[in-house]
Amino acid sequence: MSEIINGKEIAKSLKEGLAAKVVELNEKYGRTPNLVVILVGDDPGSVSYVTGKAKAANEVGIRNTTLRFPVTISEDELLAKVEELNADTDVDGILVQLPLPKHIDENKVIATISIDKDVDAFSPMSVARLWLKQPTIVPCTPNGIIKLLKSTGIEISGKEAVVIGRSNIVGLPVAKLLLDENATVTIAHSRTRNLAEVARRADILVVAIGRERLVTADMIKPGAVVIDVGVNRDTRNGKLCGDVDYENAKEVAAYITPVPGGVGPMTIACLMENTVENFIKKVEK
Ligand code: NAD
Repeated sequence: MSEIINGKEIAKSLKEGLAAKVVELNEKYGRTPNLVVILVGDDPGSVSYVTGKAKAANEVGIRNTTLRFPVTISEDELLAKVEELNADTDVDGILVQLPLPKHIDENKVIATISIDKDVDAFSPMSVARLWLKQPTIVPCTPNGIIKLLKSTGIEISGKEAVVIGRSNIVGLPVAKLLLDENATVTIAHSRTRNLAEVARRADILVVAIGRERLVTADMIKPGAVVIDVGVNRDTRNGKLCGDVDYENAKEVAAYITPVPGGVGPMTIACLMENTVENFIKKVEK
């Protein structure tokens, strides 16, 4: 029977610490960090993510604005807006909610965000710094996953870690962070043969696929730590669920994250941490 890793509680305590820090920074520098979120269109998923980010920012005391643009905005107009925010000395963090409409080159927009304000750490420069082990902020979901692993008190160094999924946003960076923690890392993906066999080697199993219940209990090594990043709709009842068959997997794993209430809240809390960090770097320069 697993111990459940309570991402909601861990995220709450991270945000409380940041809120205290923001009060301190305000006393010292006479202003609070300022986050600007750009939302193009009205995709319900994106609206919900952006609302969650604004709520968390308010909890932490980070000033925040969501700039909403119609889906018809041109690439040039959006790039000009990002450039304007780059130049605004009162803005500490810029986040462009993805996905963007098809007529806009997402890569171009992300690459335009100034590295000092790139709170998502998705820009090519931020990614390069991460892989080159240069000082940089860390992308939110992978950072949240490492914090959840550390919350269990297990030693990551020397462990066999398997990451299922190799996206730029989750799989690859989390594998890199696990490597930096001295785990031995295997990255599995849709072409991996014998996924079950590979997964069963893992002391630490991170699953970021986006398919409900793809990882079943028999794919988990008894006593493993299982981090479920997936967010899916359960076809049985319409509720949110992860990529792992949670009910059965929790009988095998030593620690497991639930969905919802695992990685999701950590992603947002780490975004707040990145915004505060960017602010500190700026004011203490
Ligand atoms: P993605 O679609 O970019 O990548 C999915 C990965 O899964 C790919 O690398 C693919 O090779 C692998 N895959 C697909 N089918 C597979 C199979 N049958 N066997 C093995 N590997 C397979 O997705 P992503 O952006 O990495 O997101 C993954 C999931 O995590 C999604 O459900 C997404 O909603 C969720 N997510 C959650 C958070 C959060 O904060 N909780 C953040 C980002 C993504």
